[in-house]
Order: sequence, then structure tokens, then C-alpha cells
Amino acid sequence: MAELRIGGVHKAYGPVRALRGVDLVVRPGSLTAVLGPSGCGKTTLLRCVAGFEAVDAGEIRIDGRTVAAPGAAVPPERRRITVVPQEGALFPHLSVRGNVAYGLDRSARRAGRVASILELVGLSGFEDRMPYHLSGGQQQRVAVARALAPRPPVVLLDEPFSALDAALRSEVRHDVRQALRADGATAVLVTHDQAEALSIADEVAVMRDGRIVQSGPPELVYSSPADPWVAGFVGEAVWLRATVDGDLARTSLGTVPVDRAAGTAAASTRVLLRPEQIDVVPLGDASTVAAAVVRRDFQGHDALLVLRLADGTEVTARIFDPSALPYALGDRVGLRVRGRARAF
Ligand code: ADP
Ligand code: MG
Repeated sequence: MAELRIGGVHKAYGPVRALRGVDLVVRPGSLTAVLGPSGCGKTTLLRCVAGFEAVDAGEIRIDGRTVAAPGAAVPPERRRITVVPQEGALFPHLSVRGNVAYGLDRSARRAGRVASILELVGLSGFEDRMPYHLSGGQQQRVAVARALAPRPPVVLLDEPFSALDAALRSEVRHDVRQALRADGATAVLVTHDQAEALSIADEVAVMRDGRIVQSGPPELVYSSPADPWVAGFVGEAVWLRATVDGDLARTSLGTVPVDRAAGTAAASTRVLLRPEQIDVVPLGDASTVAAAVVRRDFQGHDALLVLRLADGTEVTARIFDPSALPYALGDRVGLRVRGRARAF
């Protein structure tokens, strides 16, 4: 299993500073999702790691060996890295078997590597199909199987699921995750889709304007975002004005225990809650805060309610059983906060 270390990497295209000092360590055998909005430099970062672009400053190391630094670049084919592009780009004139076997030597072919990797991505029995007789999801699985077949130590995936529709996406995602794990590959997947990053990755690295602004396990990045921008990008955010005293915050939803993000000094600040931390209950209980329902956003498996407090603040609550949603627009309800808020 290989370790990937990226330190202080800069890359500009003329006046466009695409990477502005990227630092990232990808643990051996882990899957790290680089999550950021379109244009923040994700593809450029993968291209630098793969060796398709030279870096202007900084260093990229694989298992301690420098593969990229100014004036010192190992060519792509000698980095032992494979890239799975956004659209699989299969060889159209080769069967599934032909595509997957393409990068394999004879001994690997004889050892049944094609069959075993196809089984891992859920495509046993598809060996003789041609790409144009496959669905989009199946083509993407073949592209992943082709990339993984030679057992590369490092696999880079550039938004590999974005062309698939929602239902298929989670299934293919799961299969690909499993295949990466079975091989012990060290993988970096870039995406602008926060749900995808949180669901698939061991570590999430949030990227903004050519830098990694926070990295850590998905649960930690979601519950303890480093700054307000990260908080809003990795999930729904509820912002409340607050007066913070020690580890308590006085807010318009009552007094709530609070954690402080690094560098938070001011007593008067704003605090973050997630919508699932706000319980909506029938009005009446004295321990709740009264609010009116101003919007309902039904999402199938759950629903969001936008609620207005007496002071005009609007907050969003997540309701987990929308089929039992008893609240209509204009209804008055009680709100109660669960867990801890986060101050910035
Ligand atoms: P992402 O993959 O996160 O959408 P990219 O790495 O593709 O971001 O792009 C980062 C920035 O670099 C963008 O401003 C983009 O327009 C610019 N860029 C990317 N590739 C080139 C290129 N070959 N020439 C000039 N500018 C580029
Ligand atoms: Mg991109």
C-alpha cells in the first residue's frame, strides 16, 4: 500500500493560479475525497499527481519518493498511478474483456484477473459485451475495472459518477469502494458532491480556491467544520446570532452548549446548528421556543421545514418521517435544540 504526500504544491496556467499551496496526506490504502466547488482546482491537482502537468512549486511524493517537484518530474507511466476520468472513455472496438485486459501482462491474464476484477465491480458474465451494448453505469464500472486490473498502488478518480443518475450512482459507488478496498489501493476521488464525499470516503479534504482548507474523517468535517464556508459547503447550515459565555451560547432558540472553532474569541458571534439538531414538537411545552412554519421542502426520505421565530430569525429543521408530517404552512410549533452548537 502506498502513501501519497502532497506538500505546498502551486500550479498556474498563465495568470490563473489554479493551485495555491496544496497540502494533503493520503494514508496507505485509504480513500480520500477531495471535495470542492467547480473551478477550485480539483482536476488540476489530479493531473499534477498523475504527471500530466508539471508543478510550479512544492513536492509530490509516493512512498517517500519524489515524483514531482520544480525541475524534477517522473514521467506519468513511471509513477504507477492510474486515472479514472469523468467519462469512462472505453476503447469502443474492444469487448469488456479486451478493455479490462488491455494493461495486463500475460501472467495476470492467465491468473484470471479479468474475471475477478469484473466480479468485484458486479459485471461477471459481461466479458463479451461491446461498450455500446452497456448502460452508462456499466461502462463506468468497466472503466474502473480497467484502471484497477493492473493493481496500481495509487488510483485517482475524477468525478467518476457524475454522469450517472441518482439511483445508479449509489450502487456503482458502493461497488467501486469495495473494489478499491479489496485491492488495498490508495485512492483519491475528486467531487463537487458533498453527499458523495461524505458517504464514500475515509477522509474528506475540502478544497477552495486552490487550497485544502480542512481535512479529516467525514463525521468530523460535518460536525466540526473549520470555518463558516466549509460549514455551508458540506451540509445544510442553520446560523444563529449568539452571545457565548464559556461553553454556553445564548441564542434565539434558547441556551445551547457550544464548541468553538479555532480562533473564535469574540463573545458575540454566530453559531452553527445542523437541521437535524432542531426537534419540531407541538406547541405548548414551556421548554420549547415558539415558531411558525413558513416553508416545507419535501425530499422523499425526509423533509425540511423552514420556521420563523418571534424575532424574525428563520431556521431550518429536518423531519425524518415526512409521511407523518403533521405541519402545514402557518402552523405554530415548538422547537427544541439537540446536541451542541459550534461557534465561529
Ligand atoms: P475543478 O476540477 O475543481 O473544476 P480545474 O482544476 O479544472 O477545477 O480548474 C481550476 C482553474 O484553472 C479554473 O479557473 C480553470 O478555469 C483553470 N484551468 C484549468 N485548466 C486550464 C488550462 N489548461 N488552461 C488555463 N486554465 C485552466
Ligand atoms: Mg474538474
